[in-house]
Amino acid sequence: MIPYGRQTVDDDDVQAVVEVLKSAWLTTGPNVELFERSVANAAGSKHAVAVSNGTAALHCAMHALRVGPGDEVIVPAITFVATANAAVFEGATPVFADVEADTLTIDVASVEARITPRTKAIVGVDYAGQPCAWEELHALAQKHGLPLVADGCHAIGASYKGRPVGSLAAMTAFSFHPVKHVTTGEGGAIATDDDELAARLRLFRAHGIATDHRTREQRGTFHYEMVELGFNYRICDIQCALGVSQLKKLAPWVERRRAIAARYREALPSIDGLEVLRDRPEARNAYHLFVVKLPADADRAGVHRKLREAGIAANVHYMPVHLHPFYRDRFHTEPGLCPVAEREWQRILSIPMYPAMSDADVDFVVAALKTALR
Ligand SMILES: *Cc1c(COP(=O)(O)O)cnc(C)c1O
Repeated sequence: MIPYGRQTVDDDDVQAVVEVLKSAWLTTGPNVELFERSVANAAGSKHAVAVSNGTAALHCAMHALRVGPGDEVIVPAITFVATANAAVFEGATPVFADVEADTLTIDVASVEARITPRTKAIVGVDYAGQPCAWEELHALAQKHGLPLVADGCHAIGASYKGRPVGSLAAMTAFSFHPVKHVTTGEGGAIATDDDELAARLRLFRAHGIATDHRTREQRGTFHYEMVELGFNYRICDIQCALGVSQLKKLAPWVERRRAIAARYREALPSIDGLEVLRDRPEARNAYHLFVVKLPADADRAGVHRKLREAGIAANVHYMPVHLHPFYRDRFHTEPGLCPVAEREWQRILSIPMYPAMSDADVDFVVAALKTALR
């Protein structure tokens, strides 16, 4: 089966993990710091705070901004549910903005229309690996004095106007789930340039306790104090050793993803009515996903089934978040709220995209898609 995405784990990755298993620290050891430095380097940020997963990273970001009950956080309708859930974890209300039809990233005009006196933050999602219209988002956020958060879970290694994803918002959340660009099994991180935000993120990651076990051990002290309510969102040293080893290969992997995308972009337009997403000329897409829009009259479930029969596991990213029963019940988000997202999502399909794919695999997917649509 050719999946829509898959991790690459090499012998050097295995070796890195085995070494940690034989060392003194299995969690919160030297590899966490090393991994944080590697993430900050890739993200072009001063700090990176590593956590247990991307959802935790988004939750930490909401907490660090002091988002709370009565606040609204603007998020795009098309994203993974965790983007919106993070605001709900802190008691806030997610407000769904529509997306651009041709990139499926957040529509800045729709964001502007959703801003109220209760708005506390705007979250942009670099969907499928493509940065949002960050310059326009910045202008809008500045006008209203609002912080920007990036959900960069699809987009480590991408850039916008020469600046890496991780340096485009006050905080950027990353995920290291196996289907993302680099993996730690489960893992996440928040990139920021702000010293105070970084300190709040670190506190929230570890129960609201200011020192960790290793620091106390090094200082020869047992005393610690909890200063606020936090979670155990730690990532362990075993995971971070894998992450450090994986991040060394980020650049060539993104290159390979871009080469696969170029091959798709050349071949796919020969299929009648099929469209690919627009690439912003000012951005460098890291291609977490390759999303196509099927012809408007195509039977997506049927195409999905025929691809499966051919050995290809396509997927859909995503049903608009406000259409999920939880959001409809709790926040009364009815269909019609984000008409572009609601129309476009019905046509989208994520076809295989991962660095280990061969050119022959790409050609096989294109041919299977052609047959499935016939
Ligand atoms: C993967 C992902 C997340 C959540 O990351 P996990 O590590 O799975 O918790 C959040 N937002 C987006 C857009 C994602 O793709």
